[in-house]
Amino acid sequence: MFFQFSTKYMQTIDVAVVGASAAGLFAAIHAGRTARLLGRPIKISAFDGARKLGAKILVAGGGRCNVTHWRVTEQDFSGSSAPAIRKVLGRFTELETATFFEQLGVSLKREETGKLFPASNSARTVLNALLREAQALGVELIYPARIRRIDRHESGGFHLQGDCEPLLANRVILCTGGKALPKSGSDGEGFALACHLGHTLVEPIIPALVPLVLEDGHWITALSGLTLPAELFLKSGAGKRLVSFASSTLCTHFGMSGPSVLDISRHYLRSQDTDPHTQLLINWLPGFTNESLDELFLASGSGGPLSLLRRHLPDRLARQLATLAGIDDSRNVPRERRRLLATLTTATVLPVIRDRGFTFAEATAGGVPLSEVRLETMESRVCPGLSLAGEVLDVDGRIGGFNFQWAWSSGFVAGTHAAKALMS
Ligand SMILES: Cc1cc2nc3c(=O)[nH]c(=O)nc-3n(C[C@H](O)[C@H](O)[C@H](O)COP(=O)(O)OP(=O)(O)OC[C@H]3O[C@@H](n4cnc5c(N)ncnc54)[C@H](O)[C@@H]3O)c2cc1C
Repeated sequence: MFFQFSTKYMQTIDVAVVGASAAGLFAAIHAGRTARLLGRPIKISAFDGARKLGAKILVAGGGRCNVTHWRVTEQDFSGSSAPAIRKVLGRFTELETATFFEQLGVSLKREETGKLFPASNSARTVLNALLREAQALGVELIYPARIRRIDRHESGGFHLQGDCEPLLANRVILCTGGKALPKSGSDGEGFALACHLGHTLVEPIIPALVPLVLEDGHWITALSGLTLPAELFLKSGAGKRLVSFASSTLCTHFGMSGPSVLDISRHYLRSQDTDPHTQLLINWLPGFTNESLDELFLASGSGGPLSLLRRHLPDRLARQLATLAGIDDSRNVPRERRRLLATLTTATVLPVIRDRGFTFAEATAGGVPLSEVRLETMESRVCPGLSLAGEVLDVDGRIGGFNFQWAWSSGFVAGTHAAKALMS
């Protein structure tokens, strides 16, 4: 229920940032820096519904916060169009991210995978640096204060209502995230705020980077705890190989997890809307095809296919695949069974029954399309004065620091522009 207030005596601020996590803190900091640079202080307030700020930054990367990746391109993302994503990433690159944090006293180290983490190995240093810089620039951090409604105001600005005194803001930057890890405060309310101001959403909004559940009692669940490098790929109903991800893969008591599974999850889930016959498959021995593995089996000589497989795969998995193909330890294996083993090893169909939902997801697929914002400014095309940044937009990255880089890049553009626009 919303009451009509007289806005005459209401507090007015220059920039209201709604959501004070990665994108919101970055936007607020860069609005503050830009205003300082231009020599005119402005009042910036960042509101967040959570009791503690930056919950997602703290849990990210297993508590180490994978801040960015040494090389970020539009190919690392899905959602809105690649050229649009590239344009925004180009305004604040991964190199600039590293410099930004270095200047705040957080040096980053690159790991073998290309991921960049704070040298301290502690996400806390990342969050503290952002909070310190925001406060040093005079950004007012107001929490817990959920914003429940934003309306255009006749003054040309916005009227904000929620768990704080109603207020007027000349400009609003919406950084409310998506729906992943709802207990962190990102529960999708930002989508409703955006729609109320005239935006549409790319729907359905689904979990991305999410573990996948297999049919009850599937043999893979008995391998729970097994981690190995594998390749996951999608095959369309017509048999066309679509997308693939090869990296660490984890068998669990419910099904599949690990980077390769998380990366392909949004593609699999989206495919079910357009072509429900699309299948998710796993190649337990990336680099081998059905044919090349069968040739190797043939050439294996003594020991037979199972013996060979056990040299390349964990014992439990090799035995399970052999059992499914009807093969035991013997050397004389009928051709059909040997071929079946090659097929099962390089292309086991994964009967996914569902994903594990937003509670276990690391990102969100869907949201406000980039076509509804001006990419040079992140300002809304449908609601002037409103800007958007971060996961509330229809952009989701793969595992590796890409989602934070999107938050930094889009937050930088939105914050910088909001301050400049106030001066013009
Ligand atoms: C477990 C986990 C691990 C992750 N690890 C990594 C990683 O290592 N590297 C990486 O790149 N990405 C990682 N991610 C993804 C990354 O955390 C997000 O993409 C990123 O935080 C998005 O930033 P954001 O500011 O747009 O949204 P969020 O971080 O989701 O923040 C949105 C904020 O808005 C607030 N909010 C929402 N609605 C309202 C409202 N109505 N009023 C006021 N406040 C509101 C929320 O409380 C929240 O603080 C991880 C995600 C999870 C869940």
